[in-house]
Amino acid sequence: MTMITRFAPSPTGMLHIGGARTALFNVLLAKHNDGTFLLRIEDTDKSRSTPEATQAIIEALDWLGLAPDEPPVFQSANADRHVACANEMLETGAAFKCYSTPEELQTRREQGEGLRNAAKQDGLSEAARQDLLQQANEKLAPFRSPWRDGAQPPSPDAPYTIRLRAPEQGQICLNDHLQGEIKIDASEIDDLILLRADGTPTYMLAVVVDDHDMGVTLVLRGNDHLRNTFRQIPVYQAMGWDVPEFVHVPLIHGEDGGKLSKRHGALSTLAYRDMGYLPEALCAYLLRLGWSHGDTEIFTVEEAAAVFTLGGLNKSASRLDLAKLDDVNSHFIRVAEPDRLLTLLYPFIAEHEKMDDTVKARIKRALPALRDRGNTLPELASACRFLWDNNVNALTKNARKALKPENLSLLGNIRQTLDAAETWTIEGLEKLIAEFCYRHDLSIGRVGPPLRAALTGGLPAPDLAPVLSWLGREETLKRIDLHMPH
Ligand code: GLU
Repeated sequence: MTMITRFAPSPTGMLHIGGARTALFNVLLAKHNDGTFLLRIEDTDKSRSTPEATQAIIEALDWLGLAPDEPPVFQSANADRHVACANEMLETGAAFKCYSTPEELQTRREQGEGLRNAAKQDGLSEAARQDLLQQANEKLAPFRSPWRDGAQPPSPDAPYTIRLRAPEQGQICLNDHLQGEIKIDASEIDDLILLRADGTPTYMLAVVVDDHDMGVTLVLRGNDHLRNTFRQIPVYQAMGWDVPEFVHVPLIHGEDGGKLSKRHGALSTLAYRDMGYLPEALCAYLLRLGWSHGDTEIFTVEEAAAVFTLGGLNKSASRLDLAKLDDVNSHFIRVAEPDRLLTLLYPFIAEHEKMDDTVKARIKRALPALRDRGNTLPELASACRFLWDNNVNALTKNARKALKPENLSLLGNIRQTLDAAETWTIEGLEKLIAEFCYRHDLSIGRVGPPLRAALTGGLPAPDLAPVLSWLGREETLKRIDLHMPH
């Protein structure tokens, strides 16, 4: 049987990084098993779903390289099918019409809470307390409708919901690939609503019908859905369908171990793109937040797919660690194909649209040597800044010191030597500087700082010879002249 996995986000906001990790695991499972990965946009809640959120999800998955193998399925388009399935369950007797109103359910809950509070009063006999608690528990127990056994409607046109008749007794058993075998008593689940009084299908019904219709064989999702799974299994059974395999993965936590929130770092997947992380870096990082394979720290999606099995998933929650993400990102910046790195870098260089071809070629030439100078793209862009910006207005304190008047005659001498240089290669320039030092009996510690200050504004840049070679003779002389007395 071909494995079919899916990612089923609700389009109510950005694509959460936890969701991106779920998508990634599903993609890897499908790839590893020569299966298919599907995307379903769960847009049944029209008041909370927006087209922008759908777009953001699709864009984020595309950016990460996790696009589905088929066009996305929109859950709202399947509403008729969901209704038909509810009616089928009504016909087979697996579901029933329930005439309990929301107000009655609310009253039941309030009564239960009232009884529970009453049981806490001082001065009650133990027997009276136990009695109140028992009554409270009955009211607060998962709802079993008084209409489940076919009682007559209160009036012929009374509104009703369609509910699934929850199993009477026994246990609901889940064999989760990660959590192991979990059983709950049937009494722990309610007669869940399949169709609301206005005839619209509920999420719980829609998920099951869609997963079945899409042929999903394995559902991997966050363990915040574990309780839902126990409510969904009886729906599969009521329809006479195979129950898919399930894997519930622990959620990502913040660095302090608490529930992941904004104070721990950005939650939106695309925010990481905008902060200058590479998609393969975010994938590699998210992958290791919850999965491991030997001692290997960094995988590409293809490398991970080759070895991805459920056995590598962690049972305990992992913690977001942005310093680690920086390390992974700097690795991928170092190994990125040069032309691609340049394209990735441009959006982080405000001036890039105004740059002429000479400057673009200069950045391209220098990038291989400079690429380890930033953990993120904006950091790299600022380390490369001297390539297009003469920095004359942004000298560091040390650069200003190196360019004090008494150093300028030395700078003038260097200028003369550079102006007369026969070759402009890195080796040639290295030799030229060494000879200049020798000839004037100066150490490189004297000659370097004013020249570096004029060329880079004082930025800790690589060796001088490559800087000279990237800038070219004309630009080099121009930059020196900006500091010479006229
Ligand atoms: N739409 C649900 C959510 O975004 C996920 C449903 C599922 O994975 O089964 O939380």
